Amino acid sequence: MVTADKTDSGLIFAADLGGTHLRAATVDRCGRIHSRFKQNTPQVADATAIVDAIVKAVHEFQKGEQITAVSLVVPGTVKVEEGAVVKAPNLPCLDGFRLAEALSSRLELPAVLENDANAAAVGEMWQGAAVGCKSIICLTLGTGVGGGIILDGKLWRGVDGAAAEIGHMCVDPFGGVACTCGSRGCLEVFASATAIVRMTREASPRYPDSVLQGREDLTAAMIFDAGKADDELALEIFRRMGMYLGIGLANLINILNPEMIVIGGGVVNGWDLFEKHMHQQVEERAFPSLAARVKIVRAKCGDDAGLLGAARLALPS
Ligand SMILES: [Zn+2]
Repeated sequence: MVTADKTDSGLIFAADLGGTHLRAATVDRCGRIHSRFKQNTPQVADATAIVDAIVKAVHEFQKGEQITAVSLVVPGTVKVEEGAVVKAPNLPCLDGFRLAEALSSRLELPAVLENDANAAAVGEMWQGAAVGCKSIICLTLGTGVGGGIILDGKLWRGVDGAAAEIGHMCVDPFGGVACTCGSRGCLEVFASATAIVRMTREASPRYPDSVLQGREDLTAAMIFDAGKADDELALEIFRRMGMYLGIGLANLINILNPEMIVIGGGVVNGWDLFEKHMHQQVEERAFPSLAARVKIVRAKCGDDAGLLGAARLALPS
């Protein structure tokens, strides 16, 4: 692979390859985004079409900008040293594929690969809520629950690059709901957008007066809006969600003693509805001195956390 020229002053082409969209941006070494790009992720059985789409996007950017490296984040497990995707459930054609190497040889640029939630943690520490921190935990509450852990300034990837699967920490061992990972009672089945919709459907028979009754097209955003208008069903769901989230955070606080926990993703729109219940569990379960020390805050980078983190990871440290 081509190695980065550390004196370069050009831009990083950072891409966030999701199951639905491929989003990309050019980012400079100060974290400023110069240009953006978004298209649907090619839905194919062959990794080559994905490589082609990224290469085409880079060539478009290169008409007006000097790109010195490419950095890609994917929703799955990656082997960073090999630039290979191990397993990406929403993009199965990439499983086992050396994506960074394929891009690097086609573009003649250095290329790096990282897990999207890990990159989001790096992005928040570089340009977001955790600027100046050294040890943080970052949770992304979206369709699923992603996690990234940075300890003493370094991403904790684990021996196989699969660390920080915070969404699959068990918070309800007995009678817990089945999770896609094969376990039961994972944080993801209580604190993701998917979970909020499921819990609302499950609880709705007990709330016949709820505005959410009979809604086939239920989304987490709708439930959040109902909660803001004091709908009892929606308030109960965010209470439960906050409680389980707080149990998970208390575990993390006791194990890792972080200075900050940053929470991002679409579900954070309901922050005012779940915050109190989350803090209550943290106070009840975490060591008091550790709970008093940690700041639990909303993410600041929004959808750009992964892109910014990707760019940072491609810059010299
Ligand atoms: Zn799970």
